[in-house]
Amino acid sequence: MTQRIAVLGATGSIGDSTLAILAAQPHTYEVYALSGYHRLDKLFALCQQFLPKRVSVPTSAVDDFAHRLKAAGIDSEVVGGEAGLVDIATDSQTDTVVAAIVGAAGLPSTLAAARVGKRILLANKEALVMAGKVMIDAVKTHKATLLPLDSEHNAIFQCLPLAIQQDNTQIHQSNHGVRKLWLTASGGPFLQQSFEQMQQASVAEAVKHPNWSMGQKISVDSATMMNKGLELIEACHLFDLPEDKINVVIHPQSIIHSMVEYSDGSFLAQLGSPDMKTRIDSGSQPLDLFALSGLEFIEPDLQKFACLRLARQAMQAGTQATIVLNAANEIAVAAFLDGKIRLTDIADINEQALNDIQLPPLNETADIEDILAIDKIARHLTDKLVAKLT
Ligand code: NAD
Ligand code: MG
Repeated sequence: MTQRIAVLGATGSIGDSTLAILAAQPHTYEVYALSGYHRLDKLFALCQQFLPKRVSVPTSAVDDFAHRLKAAGIDSEVVGGEAGLVDIATDSQTDTVVAAIVGAAGLPSTLAAARVGKRILLANKEALVMAGKVMIDAVKTHKATLLPLDSEHNAIFQCLPLAIQQDNTQIHQSNHGVRKLWLTASGGPFLQQSFEQMQQASVAEAVKHPNWSMGQKISVDSATMMNKGLELIEACHLFDLPEDKINVVIHPQSIIHSMVEYSDGSFLAQLGSPDMKTRIDSGSQPLDLFALSGLEFIEPDLQKFACLRLARQAMQAGTQATIVLNAANEIAVAAFLDGKIRLTDIADINEQALNDIQLPPLNETADIEDILAIDKIARHLTDKLVAKLT
């Protein structure tokens, strides 16, 4: 039977990889719905290729886009805005939702998918950073399945016992003999450069990742290692472990995608060539062990990569702090991409936001409205921090 898939964030880098895989197996997968936000020409081309039943675009673009599709003889239904994304994410006709929107914008639709029990392939790590508890509770209550597409988390998932992999209620419980998780990091484009060189980095230098080609925001996050910080928080929620049970190791070759250290001292690692499509049988390059020279493992420098330290600090402080850190980082990265601040200002802004925006811990019953309210406060105050610098 074909699986009907909704791809949210279809015009992005994860969207590209996902749709390449789906296109290669048309008898297994039907692309039922797509969403896009910025590059609507690209979304239009995807509609021509996949003829989805439903498409979501920004509210202001609904009429134009519907008109354009109609003129081309494509009868996809066009919906708009956050409500449109939620509508697509919860459509009873789909089995699987690929959550590949970048940033906080992906949270409402991802959570909505969990609340109707979908199988979610999660790339949107920010959803877990902001709302880990709410998300995992929703997954458990509504018997959804949450599988990480992030290569590190997917690697860890693959290194867990098979019985746990097959029982989606157990993945998010830390009772499987795990002593520690080891997230590998490439170290990004500035690993071999000084802090001063990093300070002078242009946008083009910062988004040039050594091993992967990705969207702009995650590329900047990789340069500051905020990405690994967000992944650390993501892993805490996905695998129900405190932050001190998750180590980060820089492994510049990106061949080991991550590791699980078990209580008996053994390590299980997942290896592969650095290609985002490896996780699903997709015809990506096989790993040639004989062509590898050495594999290196380096401890991260937390002064140069302060964002990683801030992520641990936020995780210890609680959800309100991880929401603030995520929001501040999104604002700061956008300001860097706009040429308003330096790359190294991102960590300073994130740290100031964490210190200045002191909010009481969220209570047990906090829901998405409470989370989005904190997100809004944090964005507003971070805008002011950016303005001070510019
Ligand atoms: P991208 O910038 O290439 O694509 C982002 C997608 O989100 C696009 O389709 C865009 O139209 C959509 N989008 C952006 N803003 C939106 C908004 N306000 N409302 C609705 N849609 C919006 O990003 P990406 O690199 O594909 O990353 C997507 C997510 O996957 C991120 O959370 C990232 O951390 C995660 N991720 C990416 C990779 C990778 O290889 N690119 C790897 C692991 C995890
Ligand atoms: Mg990753």
